[in-house]
Amino acid sequence: MKPNYLSAGEILKNKHNLLLSDVTKSCIERIDSVDKDIKAFVRVNRDCLKQVGSTDSKGGILSGIPVSIKDNICVKDELTTCGSKILEGFKSPYDATVIEKLKGAGAVLLGKTNMDEFAFGSSCETSYYGPTYNPWDTSRIPGGSSGGSAASVAADETIMALGSDTGGSIRQPASLCGVVGLKPTYGRVSRYGLIAFASSLDQIGPITKSVEDAAILLNVIAGYDERDSTSVNMEVPDYTKSLAKDVKGLKIGIPKEYFVEGLDSEVKKAVVDALGILKDMGADTIEISLAHTEYALSVYYILAPAEASSNLARFDGVQYGFRVKDPENLIELYKKTRSMGFGREAKRRIILGTYSLSSGYYDAYYLKALKVRTLIKKDFDEAFKICDCVITPTSPTCAFKLGEKLNNPLDMYLSDIFTIPANLAGLPALSVPCGFNREGLPIGLQIIGKPFNEELLFRVAYTFEQSTEFHKKKPNL
Ligand code: GLN
Repeated sequence: MKPNYLSAGEILKNKHNLLLSDVTKSCIERIDSVDKDIKAFVRVNRDCLKQVGSTDSKGGILSGIPVSIKDNICVKDELTTCGSKILEGFKSPYDATVIEKLKGAGAVLLGKTNMDEFAFGSSCETSYYGPTYNPWDTSRIPGGSSGGSAASVAADETIMALGSDTGGSIRQPASLCGVVGLKPTYGRVSRYGLIAFASSLDQIGPITKSVEDAAILLNVIAGYDERDSTSVNMEVPDYTKSLAKDVKGLKIGIPKEYFVEGLDSEVKKAVVDALGILKDMGADTIEISLAHTEYALSVYYILAPAEASSNLARFDGVQYGFRVKDPENLIELYKKTRSMGFGREAKRRIILGTYSLSSGYYDAYYLKALKVRTLIKKDFDEAFKICDCVITPTSPTCAFKLGEKLNNPLDMYLSDIFTIPANLAGLPALSVPCGFNREGLPIGLQIIGKPFNEELLFRVAYTFEQSTEFHKKKPNL
């Protein structure tokens, strides 16, 4: 088997039999043969082969392991465009903290991956560079917004990837592409150098072929960073130590509000079967109530656009990227640059956010949404008094067809109904493959944990993964 098909864990165990430069070489060959159909990458770093030799000798934990990077994470002197025309030509003057850490660990930065513009979306169709296609069925979307990262892992064009998750953008594409995705606890991973969407919700996290790889990658990127004031100064455990096949006595909460109308019957069956497997392994399930779940989507679509409208104010043609030619005056420069630079969904979010923050509406929308956000968090606090983790489907459906929801934003927003609550509550949540529907499309299981208890997520996901075969199946590309 060519090394691009391996996980990082497998490569690290086989190090003596493998030439590390072959791993990167086989990833680049794979990109050359399949990325014309998948379009996971917006830029491939072809010079990275040269890098392999020099990092090899340093012997970092990820030495010689290719990682693809979502295009909203800054890499020094490289284009970082967030899938938007407005950042056309923008080269970051510095490395994001996670990139510094990856470089320090010897990882090979393989290239930048496609995403919904500014991470607004669930289908990876709103990028200025065009859509990414699902490796399991190229007539379908890969999920979003980290669709490029998830597709690059699922198509074995890379070994691992980084994504970002504001309302589900790591877990939902991971689920739809049949790979593992983790949104860490808010504050666990530094956001320094992540181009902000909604600062109180955003987290960077791993998208990988196995649970073990997610633990390996989190080990590298987690930790306190004084440059991110919301990063938390807590010791980072060795997450690979939690990879035990053991869920005996564990109490799994099943929220009744999540198994309702709108949930695809095949997705539901796969999740119920998965719970059966965990029970056979010794876990107990208990029904819980997350009573304010029905408000999560409304709360998110007030808070996230509000924060986004403020964060996106800086893109005005003066400091970053695209600038309209020959404006008549400064106001024209702002107006024309922003009208031409942002796509439809970005404009929709800016308008929504500006509206809910404006005087007279602030109390009715933004402030109220903040209060309901607290209630949603409290539901989880209560639930965690009687259970150790919560299990739900990651996405209500499998991958849908390209174009199917593009003109129906409300339908598109529903794709994140199960992932958004964890962002609103700041909790860690992981998606692991748990089955396929009749058409052979992947289904994901979401495990939500207590703050800073990623270890438990890894243990549950690892137990499940090692008791099933779903992660071994590859798309027919
Ligand atoms: N799909 C959600 C949105 O459109 C979540 C996106 C994300 O997590 N970045 O906002």
